[in-house]
Amino acid sequence: MYDIVIVGGGPAGSTLARLLGKKFKILVIDKRQLIYMTSEGNFEKCCGGLIAPDAQLMLAKFGLGIPQNILVGPQLFTVRTIDIQNNIEQYYQRHYINVDREKFDKWLVSLIPPEVDVVCGAIFKGFEIINNNINLKYIQQGREYNINTKVLVGADGAISTVRKKLSIDSPRPKTYISIQEYYKVDNSLPYFSSIFDDDITDFYSWTIPKDDLLVLGTAVIPKNKPYERFIVLKEKLISRGFEFGPCVKRNGAYLLRPERLNQICVGKGNVALIGEAAGWISPSSAEGLSYSFRSAYALANAILHRPDNIIDEYYRNTNKLRLNIKWKHFKSPFMYNTFLRKIAMKSGFMKMDMINHEVV
Ligand SMILES: Cc1cc2nc3c(=O)[nH]c(=O)nc-3n(C[C@H](O)[C@H](O)[C@H](O)COP(=O)(O)OP(=O)(O)OC[C@H]3O[C@@H](n4cnc5c(N)ncnc54)[C@H](O)[C@@H]3O)c2cc1C
Repeated sequence: MYDIVIVGGGPAGSTLARLLGKKFKILVIDKRQLIYMTSEGNFEKCCGGLIAPDAQLMLAKFGLGIPQNILVGPQLFTVRTIDIQNNIEQYYQRHYINVDREKFDKWLVSLIPPEVDVVCGAIFKGFEIINNNINLKYIQQGREYNINTKVLVGADGAISTVRKKLSIDSPRPKTYISIQEYYKVDNSLPYFSSIFDDDITDFYSWTIPKDDLLVLGTAVIPKNKPYERFIVLKEKLISRGFEFGPCVKRNGAYLLRPERLNQICVGKGNVALIGEAAGWISPSSAEGLSYSFRSAYALANAILHRPDNIIDEYYRNTNKLRLNIKWKHFKSPFMYNTFLRKIAMKSGFMKMDMINHEVV
């Protein structure tokens, strides 16, 4: 019998386990292998691996600093924004920490106190509520396990099985499929490029340098021939001077984009949802790490202070996070409406003037 079972040991689940691990009897289950610092044979989370300022702030508040072996080069302070429709390019200053996402997740799991049971390679299948207890089922190496817990937490990402099994009337956020390919490059430019092209997607595409690789990614609606669009995107970028060497890796993942606040669901009864499982992710940039940290912290406080009414307290604790999503909704038209984006980029607001070395 556990006090809390957390399904998913990604940034949200591992943070909750770290915050509460010494106070409650906790089990974390994850289908990935998150314990050892090797990614061999593992299913990697598809991610840009950029720690944005809001996520940095949360790490700072937690008193954490990222170890050197998790960083990849170059560190990035520049966003190169390319608007294909309006044929405008601008550079903006923004500070990211560039990491190896797989190592980052494993580092967060390594911070979970030893009192917590962490089971990897285990797939959560479902749960039922019997006399105020939650009975859940997971499968590991072909064997089925049944576990009882007082609180169940779904931290199982965009396609959350916990959320699916919970009978709630909250509609699912808009769902994209993201594709990333990693190309060998001799020298990549130290920019995070964000590419806006309505012919590819109504969201955005990106390039991110990772040591000797350049990642090209996009997020498109699943039924809109995602890979064909990805290839068109690559060709368009090549014609704009981008160089992509041989492809050494490809991955993909679903990505949520909450368009309305009622698509964010914090849970019901003694079943709570955190991180992307709840729909906590920026609808304008797809930055999700800060939301995972903040929602895990909000739930940790609710479990500690209002064990009799966890969901209502967690909902209250996330009021600011909802306001933050509203702010991102307000900003979105200036990024995703072709006409407004043209005005915003042409105005030069916040842009950086790049210095051409040959001129200097
Ligand atoms: C292509 C892409 C690029 C992104 N780039 C960035 C970025 O650069 N910066 C940023 O801040 N955010 C980025 N995001 C968003 C960010 O990755 C997510 O918001 C974040 O990972 C959410 O964390 P989480 O812990 O909620 O879920 P996840 O990180 O998805 O973790 C969920 C965990 O649950 C496990 N799991 C799922 N189902 C089961 C099951 N049935 N049984 C057992 N275990 C299960 C998974 O194995 C996984 O470990 C990106 C997302 C995508 C798709």
